[in-house]
Amino acid sequence: MKQNIVTIDEVIKAFKNPPAHEGEKLVRDAFEFADAAHKNQKRASGKPYINHPLATAKILATIGMDARTVAAGLLHDVPEDTPETLSTISKKFGPDIAQMIEGITKLGRIKLRGTKEDYKLENWRRMFLAMGADIRTVIIKLADRLHNMQTLEYLRPDKRIRIAHETMEIYVPIANRLGIGEIRGELADLCFMYLQPDDYQRTKHLSEEKLKEKEAYVEKAIKEIGQSLKEDGIKYIDMHGRAKNIYSLYLKLQKHDMDIKRVFDLIAIRIIVQDVTACYETLGIVHKKYRPMIGRIKDYISLPKPNGYQSIHTTVFGPDGRVLEVQIRTQKMHDEAEFGIAAHWLYETRKKRGWTSYFLPKNDKITKKEVEWVKQLQQWQEELGNNPEEFMEGLKVDFLKNHIFAFTPLGDIIELPEGASIVDFAYAIHTDVGHTATGARVDGKMSALNSIVHNGQIIEIITDKNRVLPNADWLEFVKTSHAKSAIRRAINRAKKENSL
Ligand code: MN
Repeated sequence: MKQNIVTIDEVIKAFKNPPAHEGEKLVRDAFEFADAAHKNQKRASGKPYINHPLATAKILATIGMDARTVAAGLLHDVPEDTPETLSTISKKFGPDIAQMIEGITKLGRIKLRGTKEDYKLENWRRMFLAMGADIRTVIIKLADRLHNMQTLEYLRPDKRIRIAHETMEIYVPIANRLGIGEIRGELADLCFMYLQPDDYQRTKHLSEEKLKEKEAYVEKAIKEIGQSLKEDGIKYIDMHGRAKNIYSLYLKLQKHDMDIKRVFDLIAIRIIVQDVTACYETLGIVHKKYRPMIGRIKDYISLPKPNGYQSIHTTVFGPDGRVLEVQIRTQKMHDEAEFGIAAHWLYETRKKRGWTSYFLPKNDKITKKEVEWVKQLQQWQEELGNNPEEFMEGLKVDFLKNHIFAFTPLGDIIELPEGASIVDFAYAIHTDVGHTATGARVDGKMSALNSIVHNGQIIEIITDKNRVLPNADWLEFVKTSHAKSAIRRAINRAKKENSL
């Protein structure tokens, strides 16, 4: 995949929501700063390093993120890879942007252990929680990872496989959970290409062959449906054919003995209309025109998928009696399907500018249906939509309630209850580390053992191998039962030995 050099003008042009004057200035300033900081650095591809943050920023702009997040995308590798520091960024661009970048830098150090299925879910949940302080961090990380995957060919083969694995296990599900179909699809295809090259090529070939064959047919169907909608006075915003991603096609083919004739949604026609009522009216018109296939109507509007996806899908016998899938949705559902949680920022700006026409009437039946956390996210978005700070606070409070995530210098995540101390952290690493702890460096600064651990801190425990017993006073402040019992056990054992 040949990657062109991205320019800052292209980033500005890519904004789904063109930023106001200050926003554009912020993005350009961030570019100037990052460009100077990364000066003379090169990517593995041999291209100037700045191409990577530019490409990351362009992805963010494309999926509808705001100017500040795009600026953070431009700056995301500055503290890690250049002499410029986070505090300089904070002074120049404000604490909000600096915090997003801090989150990304910390995340870079997370070591994900184990490949067992059990750990996978837990791992990515933790990763998400660790970043939960600001969900924009996750989105920037996804854009960063997407560009790294797009340029993976320049890395050593063993590295390619490792990164593709990690991406498939962690980032693809996160993109899916956040409903960012646009990123998820491309990431999954890229992983597939590196992890199962033969299957990838075969599936891609099969898909291309079939698509070529179907092109004229889809065009004909679009024309016919358009005509019927017009006759019935239904306006549509857009209608287009959309091919399935290679990897999703592969998964589907596996279910059907690799027989592509049994995959009905290789290419689907997508109709985007004004509102929910128009969705159902359009469905009626499509069914009047083409006979529906029994049992193939899926109403994800009244029953959204767990990640919030909404649309109506139906399979019909289209022109010439051939099978065709049709998907019907509103513009907002469409943006949410493509950009997921990122659509939050998109709609926020649109609302501010009075572009209210995309907003649907509130439908309580839908919003109360799901209790899963992503659904909850969407609910919060609705409720707190006017206030991004409050939205972030809401996320923080609920996701991180009673949970602290801190890191070892090697990037292992230690999960602790709220109010836990450095000693709890030490015992969480290993009982012996707890027993021999004498002090700690927290984010590089010396701290007392009874200090409270805060979310996201990097903590290095200083131990003294000659020390044999934990301090009984620690029992007054430790929070975890693991630390408490380990301290008690050690002290009791020592008492017994002394009395012998
Ligand atoms: Mn990066």
